[in-house]
Order: sequence, then C-alpha cells, then structure tokens
Amino acid sequence: MVQKHDAFSVGFDIGGTNIKIAVLTPKRGIHRFWTVSQPRPLPEEVLATIDDALRIAGHKGSGFRSPVRGVGVGCAGLIDANSGSVIESPNLPQWKHVPLADLIHQRTGLPTTVRNDADVFALAEWKLGTARKKTDVVFVTLGTGVGGALLINGHLYHGAGFAGELGHATVKLDGPRCSCGNRGCLESLVGSGAIVRRARRYLAVDGGKRRKSYCPASLTPELISDAARHGEQWAVRTFAETGRILGIALAGLANTLSPELFVIGGGVSRAGTWLFRPARDAMIGAMLGKARAIPRVLPARLGNKAGAVGAALFHLEDE
Ligand SMILES: [Zn+2]
Repeated sequence: MVQKHDAFSVGFDIGGTNIKIAVLTPKRGIHRFWTVSQPRPLPEEVLATIDDALRIAGHKGSGFRSPVRGVGVGCAGLIDANSGSVIESPNLPQWKHVPLADLIHQRTGLPTTVRNDADVFALAEWKLGTARKKTDVVFVTLGTGVGGALLINGHLYHGAGFAGELGHATVKLDGPRCSCGNRGCLESLVGSGAIVRRARRYLAVDGGKRRKSYCPASLTPELISDAARHGEQWAVRTFAETGRILGIALAGLANTLSPELFVIGGGVSRAGTWLFRPARDAMIGAMLGKARAIPRVLPARLGNKAGAVGAALFHLEDE
C-alpha cells in the first residue's frame, strides 16, 4: 500500500516556451517546483520531460508501488476536457488532436487529467490564491498567449465546450494578425509579442538619453517591466497603452458577467502597478453602472507556480 503521506500529485504547465512542474503533498503543500526550458516542444519531447519528472518524484513505472497518485497537465490551447486531448494550440503549432492524457496514462499507468492552461491557473488561484472563497471571478493569464477562465456561481464554467477564451475576443477590427489566424484579438494586442513591438516603437520615439542602454532586439516583457520601475518613460508608456487595451476588454467582461474580481496572472502581470493601474482606470471608464459593483483587479498570488500547482490539484480534490 502507498502511504497516504507520500501520495504526491504531479502537475505540469505546458506553455509556449517552457514546462513548469509542481509536486504537491496531499495537504496541497508544494513539495518541489521547477521549470524546464522547452520552446514549442513536440509531443514526444513533452512526454520525455513528464517521464523524467515522475522519476524525480519517485515513480518507477507501471507495476511498481508508486508514491505518485496522479498526473495533471495544463496546456495552452483548445483542450477536450473529457478525453484530455489537445485539439490545437496556437503556441504549439505542430500539435493537432494529440490524445495527451491517454499517452501519459499508457506510459505511466497513472490517472491523468489534461485541461486548458487557464483552467488549471484558475483552479490554483481559486483554491489556494487570490480568489479563495470567491464565487464569481474572471481569471486572465497574460504571457506569450492570453488565456481566461470563468468562475460563475462557484463553478468553473465551460459552456458548450471552450468558454473563457477571452484572449481571442476581437478588440480591434482589422488589427494585427493573431496566433490563431484572426485579426485584432486581445492576444494580438496585449500578448508578450505585442508588448515587445510596442516597446520598440516607444523606445525609438522617446527613448531619450538612455536609449542606447536598451537593445531593441533583446527586449522582453521582464526587461520592459524593470525599465518602467526605473522610470523609463518609453517603458511606462508601453504598459500604459497595454493596460488601457486590457482594461477595455475587462470592462466588456464586467458588463457581461459582473464578477466580484478579476485575477490577472502570467509572466506579463509582473509589470504590476504599471499595467494594473491603467487597466483598472480604463475598465472603470468603460463600465456601465460606474458607481456600484466595480470588480477588483488583483494580481494572482501563486505567481509562475499557479498553472502547475492547479494541474496537480485535480488529483487532490478528494482530500
Ligand atoms: Zn486570436
């Protein structure tokens, strides 16, 4: 018999650039957490990373007594939550109808759950983070891609299948081309790629004396955040414009769903107040019923761990 105290659950967060891994104890404590850099991995590469991680967690394969009770995966893209198949993923262009849950189960013998990366982020922030004990929340992930999940009346809402894909809501007609093929999606305007392009433009226009300290080709959202904290106006303007666009999208959601709270996570959210303040202002400006029921806009609490931790939680929910 596997002892209860060592029945870990292992969660994986497969993004466009890396895979984050969390090993959770039955009491939802983080036993281990690490990141493997794997830009646009193929399915076989992901399966190899999962094998390695399960070995680290003490799983020796089917037929051996395992300290691992289950595997959870959050993956960017359209996921069939019932079968655990990755139907398609804008950030993993070579993945089409990959039965990921079945493939993992066949190799490991472990119960496996595969969900949209925003769903697992939402589960983590709802059970352990900013949205604890809330019932009506919109979750937004800002990174290479822009994802979303909806908590309505205390239930994660999937609609007829893929509810919450707010990154692909059109916010600008004839706007930039998006990773999904359409134009002007929220992701094409506030995803990392759009932020870097915007920063290059502002750096060229008003980089000032310190323009030479920053190489346009090597800008990342993290570097732009650091520059904003140091008072660089081109970087502050980059996040002000990004925040305004995000805020307009939040206003549309607020008018539609009237949530108590927006929880914003993902790498780009580390820009903090430089992004949140203009987003909140733009949201309030564009909302109906301005005097009442204004949702709060708060950062996620679990930071870059949320996706992997949420994925692992699927196998601990009966605790
Ligand atoms: Zn799109």
